Amino acid sequence: MSGDSIDATPPLAEHNTQALRRLLSRARTIMAGPGEAEGRLEQITGIIAAELVAEVCSIYVRRAGDMLELYATQGLKSDAIHNTRLRVGEGLVGDIAAHARPLVLSDAQNHPNFAYRPETGEELFHSLMGVPAVRGGRVVGVLVVQNRTQRHYTDEEVETLETVAMVVAEMVAGGELVDQAELSPVDGIGIKPLRLEGLRLHNGIGMGTAVLHQPQYKVEQVVADDPVLEHQRLDDAYADMHGALQDMMETSAFDKAGEHREIMEAYRMIASDAGWLEKLHTAIDSGLTAEAAVERVQNDLSARMGQVADPYIRERVQDIEDLGSRLMRHLYGDQGQDTGELPEHVVLVARTLGPAQLFDYDASRLRALVLEEGSPTSHAAIVARALDIPVVAQVKDAIERIEQGDTIVVDGDSARVFVRAGEDVQQTFKDALKAKTVQAQKYDALKELPARTLDGTEVNLFINAGLLVDLRRMHETGANGIGLYRTEVPFMVRPEFPDVDEQEVIYREILDGADGKPVLFRTLDVGGDKVLPYWEPGDEENPAMGWRSIRISLDRPAMLRQQLRALVRASAGRDMRIMFPMIAEVSEFVAAKGMLDMELARHEERGLEVPTNVTVGCMLEVPALAFQLKALLRHSDFVSVGSNDLMQFLFASDRGNARLAGRYDTLSPSVLSFLRAVVSECDEAGKPISLCGEMAGYPLDAMALIGIGFRNLSLVPSSIGPVKAMVRSLELGSLERYLRTISDIDHRSVRKKLKNFAQDHQVEI
Ligand code: PEP
Ligand code: MG
Repeated sequence: MSGDSIDATPPLAEHNTQALRRLLSRARTIMAGPGEAEGRLEQITGIIAAELVAEVCSIYVRRAGDMLELYATQGLKSDAIHNTRLRVGEGLVGDIAAHARPLVLSDAQNHPNFAYRPETGEELFHSLMGVPAVRGGRVVGVLVVQNRTQRHYTDEEVETLETVAMVVAEMVAGGELVDQAELSPVDGIGIKPLRLEGLRLHNGIGMGTAVLHQPQYKVEQVVADDPVLEHQRLDDAYADMHGALQDMMETSAFDKAGEHREIMEAYRMIASDAGWLEKLHTAIDSGLTAEAAVERVQNDLSARMGQVADPYIRERVQDIEDLGSRLMRHLYGDQGQDTGELPEHVVLVARTLGPAQLFDYDASRLRALVLEEGSPTSHAAIVARALDIPVVAQVKDAIERIEQGDTIVVDGDSARVFVRAGEDVQQTFKDALKAKTVQAQKYDALKELPARTLDGTEVNLFINAGLLVDLRRMHETGANGIGLYRTEVPFMVRPEFPDVDEQEVIYREILDGADGKPVLFRTLDVGGDKVLPYWEPGDEENPAMGWRSIRISLDRPAMLRQQLRALVRASAGRDMRIMFPMIAEVSEFVAAKGMLDMELARHEERGLEVPTNVTVGCMLEVPALAFQLKALLRHSDFVSVGSNDLMQFLFASDRGNARLAGRYDTLSPSVLSFLRAVVSECDEAGKPISLCGEMAGYPLDAMALIGIGFRNLSLVPSSIGPVKAMVRSLELGSLERYLRTISDIDHRSVRKKLKNFAQDHQVEI
């Protein structure tokens, strides 16, 4: 601590708590006292300046148009009051408001964001400490202290100022300083229709009533009258929250068993973290009510950690924020979203969703998800994709601009959200939805029917899966089984790497739920675009071609063997199907298969029940392997083409790069002749071949694949119906003949020709 900051009388924490309590109670008395609101604000600046030994204390209040206006000051020129105004984001004060986080600078004037305002006379002051005044998640003002010297403010001092800022926020929200209407965002909340844009995380259309996840609680009373009572209230709410989490683990309406249980368990562990509870109690010690303590600790956490880029830490921060909201709910005696009271069609609006939160809602009512944050690999995105509901993420200020009960249309395809839309817009989407419903009913009717062409060729349609909820979709669609189970997906939604026992449970539950239908497990395929939150991504220039997938598994044999052990155990007494991803040369496949053989032998040696039948296949995703197929097929029982990766390597075109999307076509003559050659080699060797990339889910692409010889396709569950309808309307013989006539053309794509063929032959695409 520098010499010119306040004297530290040890113990520091104790001193700080007492000082803070004193300051809070004085601020509270002033606030509730007589006189003009602005006069009282002025008095508050005086006591803060005195307590923090600062030469300046100023309070800025947020006004309409995102302006921060100086309302009261001790130490700056009084002429500046109501004259000094800064936009949110402008200058240091604007920076604090924009990021909702404290700023502590010993040499403020040399900071690049410093915006000099001559009317204030602030050129005399070098050091600055500022904090946001936050109310219901929104910054309503900024408190700043300044000193002439280059002072180093301590963490305790920042906390003191943050706590007093809560009292100021309460005063601003009271409406005495600015008109209440100014406190709302500018776009006429609750009245005007809005069109918001975001990032598509899952397509489709969803309509319904807005349900705000974690409604913003407005803390009514910041300063406690009776601290003992507040400690007790916190403990009671904390115990209630634990109990509710426990109940949810046992009785979640979402799914009776499965990954959510483990997610919840991890979640409960965070809730038991003594550090968190201690912080809450310390905040009460400083004079806050239990609610204000929760808000205070949450604000602090968001401010400190919100800017962290590390995905693992961000997830953890989200989890703790989520727990804070749960705790708040219990403090208010609100037991949370009672499904009985949920609207029939729910469009869930959230800033972000922690791992367990989607499970709070009755999945059968969820129509769409709107998130202020969220990325394609976030938990919510993974689960929502499995539920097949549209998700639009990164929608700016969604929570502020959407009100509970608003009608909302979410167009996942164009990543747009229509709030309080007019009748005409709603009608357009209603028509689109109705058409989709009619289609869905038509596909439902095909459920029990085989995917057989008009001329009698049978095609097996499997689903791609990753979560337990996918099993429901497998049964609903009448698919033949799971043709690609991405084992990395359950790893992605967990807080840490599952051990052998945990993995065994995951795989066993999948096999049990599949009810005897085949499940093809693919070993861990991480790296590239698939990031595990707890796994430090390597610093690679070209991750798609980097250390990923089977390359990691072979370099970390213990990890692969653990996974194989779990798969062998889960498959005891039943068929085991497994494949290895991203194999580039036969030796890699042989090495991986060797490890499986070792695990099987180890299992057998121990007298444990072994799988009845083991089928081991290889994914074809790297073009080089296609030129070594004969050798591969001496070792491999089947081949599954991963067309997503195969395309990116065939065309040297990044699958995740939006600028390249559509540049090359999956239905190019080159792709089709490549795949045709692969199919015929497999046929010659008498080994089955399937395709499990996205292209299998598009009816026209699937038609082409069947035309060149594929009889096994694995696709997203929502495509089973459309692809089956296509197969059942196809006369394969004429397609095969047609394809032969166009195999050598010099066009970039045969898409148009195949579309015309389908139209001419009444194939449903
Ligand atoms: C593929 O690459 O086509 C595939 C099925 O694997 P993933 O999409 O999981 O990489
Ligand atoms: Mg792949």
